[in-house]
Amino acid sequence: MNDKHTNITQSEQHSLLRSDKENVWHPYTSMSEPLPSYLVDSAQGVTINLASGERLIDGMSSWWSVLHGYNHPKLNAALQEQAAKMSHVMFGGLTHRSAITLCEKLVLLTPEGLTKVFLSDSGSVSVEVAIKMALQYQHAIAEKKQVMLTKTKLLTVKNGYHGDTFAAMSVCDPITGMHQIFEQVLMKHYFAPAPSIKFGENWSTDDVTKLSALFSAHHNEIAAFIIEPIVQGTGGMRFYHPEYLKACRLLCDKYDVIMIVDEIATGFGRTGKLFACEWAEITPDIMCLGKTLTGGYITLAATLCTTHIAQTISDGAAGCFMHGPTFMGNALACAVANASIDLLFENDWQNQVQGIESTLNTLLKPLTTHARVKDTRVLGSIGAVECTQSVNVAQIQKRFVELGVWIRPFGQLIYIIPPLIITSEQLSTLVNAIATVLDEDECFS
Ligand code: PMP
Repeated sequence: MNDKHTNITQSEQHSLLRSDKENVWHPYTSMSEPLPSYLVDSAQGVTINLASGERLIDGMSSWWSVLHGYNHPKLNAALQEQAAKMSHVMFGGLTHRSAITLCEKLVLLTPEGLTKVFLSDSGSVSVEVAIKMALQYQHAIAEKKQVMLTKTKLLTVKNGYHGDTFAAMSVCDPITGMHQIFEQVLMKHYFAPAPSIKFGENWSTDDVTKLSALFSAHHNEIAAFIIEPIVQGTGGMRFYHPEYLKACRLLCDKYDVIMIVDEIATGFGRTGKLFACEWAEITPDIMCLGKTLTGGYITLAATLCTTHIAQTISDGAAGCFMHGPTFMGNALACAVANASIDLLFENDWQNQVQGIESTLNTLLKPLTTHARVKDTRVLGSIGAVECTQSVNVAQIQKRFVELGVWIRPFGQLIYIIPPLIITSEQLSTLVNAIATVLDEDECFS
């Protein structure tokens, strides 16, 4: 839809976009030949309003982060109330109600046993924190036992993605993880094959044979195992069997390896459970949260751990965990996170997610028969179409904008992960747009 109502004049739009192209890095695109960027004027509910007048139905939730829609009155109010008191105070030696309440909520909502919360700035940083916690825990254990520290490596599975900072990059898939260029400087860890039995298929323990063998051979060197629960997102929107995650928990217990679960993308209802771990009824030793934590308003992440891990680290010679970001516990972010979590329950998130899942099952699944489609997958509020060819990002993006939707595919995947408040009519517009571009050769390379 294009009602041409816009607050930015055409000449301003041109000059802003010229400046953007000249000075501003955007993620994963060339600085000299960048993919086009569309200028946003505002966003409201499930709609992104471009300065050029187009109204786009958002299929991406701004990379999995927006839950209740844009410009939400309750989230805005939470921010304003907090800003009127203070936006930020240092977290060393000071604390405040918004952070305390948020950490209480997270302890209450996450699987039983996760009791201590470390707040940080972004998903990648929460993964750095998780890895550091596991390493410092193993250090403290070795110190206590007065043995040499050997558990310094990580174990993970292929097709994983955990962020763009260095420790996080080192556990991303060596090929699909987008970080091959840094291979020579990244810490070397162990990689098992990706889980291959899909969510909903029959389970066989064969899927963990190689993983078990790696645990068995190297457990003396392995400090922690890290995995995205149930959904491998950036690695290909692969939904795997909950029994795999259960088996990972058992192996970590058997071999005294810390289990880190990266719920940054899957947390807060996205897969149909509040946390994807619940599909396997497991509690990890450490859990990372981010993205939707503030309902898509401000960057904030959390790393939760058990009392045992926190206690062991605190009993070590250092006496404290060695991390302390400047913006730790940012009050604005915590206030909006509290409001977003409250809204999740007020809005009956389970009902919202089930509604999206059933509409996607009806509308998206039939695309499986399209000649250009290899597979379609739906889980909770996530719908993915795996194509037989890679998309031409610039072209497909242009067509989606013309069709009134915001969908950003990558590789061979066109996926949607809409805000939970989306209506079935809006979902249908998203799926129809996908169906349309599937017929257009120029959208694929
Ligand atoms: N882990 C997972 C599973 C993610 O999907 C992402 C973000 N795509 C990250 C970590 C990194 O989070 P951030 O971009 O906030 O650093």
